[in-house]
Amino acid sequence: MAQLDTRQKLAILADAAKYDASCASSGTSKRNSAGGKGVGSTEGMGICHAYAPDGRCISLLKILLTNSCIFDCHYCINRKSSNVRRARFTVSEVVDLTLNFYRRNYIEGLFLSSGIIGSSNYTMEQLVEIARQLREVHDFRGYIHLKTIPDADPELVRLAGLHADRVSINVELPTSRGLKRLAPEKDEGRIEGAMSHMNTAIIDGRDARKKYKSAPKFAPAGQSTQMIVGADAAKDGDIILKASSLYNRFSMRRVYYSAFSPIPDASAVLPLKSPPLMREHRLYQSDWLMRFYGFQPREVIAASEDGMLPLDIDPKLAWALKFRESFPVDVNRAPRDMLLRVPGLGTKAVGAILKSRRYRNLRLDDLGRLTQSIRKIRPFISCVGWQPTRLTDREDLKSLIVPKKEQLELFART
Ligand code: SF4
Repeated sequence: MAQLDTRQKLAILADAAKYDASCASSGTSKRNSAGGKGVGSTEGMGICHAYAPDGRCISLLKILLTNSCIFDCHYCINRKSSNVRRARFTVSEVVDLTLNFYRRNYIEGLFLSSGIIGSSNYTMEQLVEIARQLREVHDFRGYIHLKTIPDADPELVRLAGLHADRVSINVELPTSRGLKRLAPEKDEGRIEGAMSHMNTAIIDGRDARKKYKSAPKFAPAGQSTQMIVGADAAKDGDIILKASSLYNRFSMRRVYYSAFSPIPDASAVLPLKSPPLMREHRLYQSDWLMRFYGFQPREVIAASEDGMLPLDIDPKLAWALKFRESFPVDVNRAPRDMLLRVPGLGTKAVGAILKSRRYRNLRLDDLGRLTQSIRKIRPFISCVGWQPTRLTDREDLKSLIVPKKEQLELFART
């Protein structure tokens, strides 16, 4: 490997890390350096979240320890056979960069991943050492997200949880068939085994904290994972089922979906084009439906056509258009779970409706004040003075709700 200075390494290793979408820092516990103790805070102001041109979040110092790897996953730009420029940080370089960027208020924390160098254990040791030095030597109180390596010794993975706010292990692909084909050195059983260990350690850590205040925090922001979308033949239905199973079995805080980006010198087994970014967005919406709107995975899948979610409308509207017999929903009487099924009603609006209807029967005007899109909800609700007679039976209901796309004028004045 050629001798590179820190700036050159940063250019290579920050660029190599941009393919990982799971960088949100939500859900961790509060920690700060108020009173002059330590460095950093997980809730600081003035730290911007930045987005790369392709829409990915780059708000943290998001880097790889190295982009060298002994594995050869087809979809990965850092795979062994890839012809990219390689670089590797030392432990102290990552520690110094994090502290310096933090002090300048460039970042709110560190997101650290790595290719596998030498062995899984050796790589994991290096990642853990960076987090340990930040916490124990420099009293760093900012956010740390560590990617962990499924094959590493469970004790090392446990140490990662002691220093990091969030840990993640990427499931990579939604089906074991896809994983075998595109990442032959990885194994679904080992990945899920590591997730299971982590889940147990997180639960144990939480229990210990309940009993003893002095017990150390263990991965307070939980674990997350990421699935690549569009690199294999898996349909949205497969992805939804996999995500739901990961949430249920391993108490995942988040499953991230990352649309596959074609990489230079790509392997012939990969598609030539990336999937539409809207597909990634629809999967996030379906994820939201399962986590906050009480939809079962099978119900979300029922809104799809041949296993694929529609791209032109959101999955909740697609479900409502397909199952029109569930509507109209009486906003003055329906339970919360039915109100949540109405397209255009979010959790906040449903909360406001439930609160208001305790005092009076709601009319369409009232709903106009409580919600953002009365046009969208009107066909699916009834209230005092409003009954959508035969509206839900209309063939063209979808076109009435979905705003027409405007043709942009080529020579419009701005
Ligand atoms: S193990 Fe990770 S870094 Fe290495 S090739 Fe596979 S996905 Fe890329």
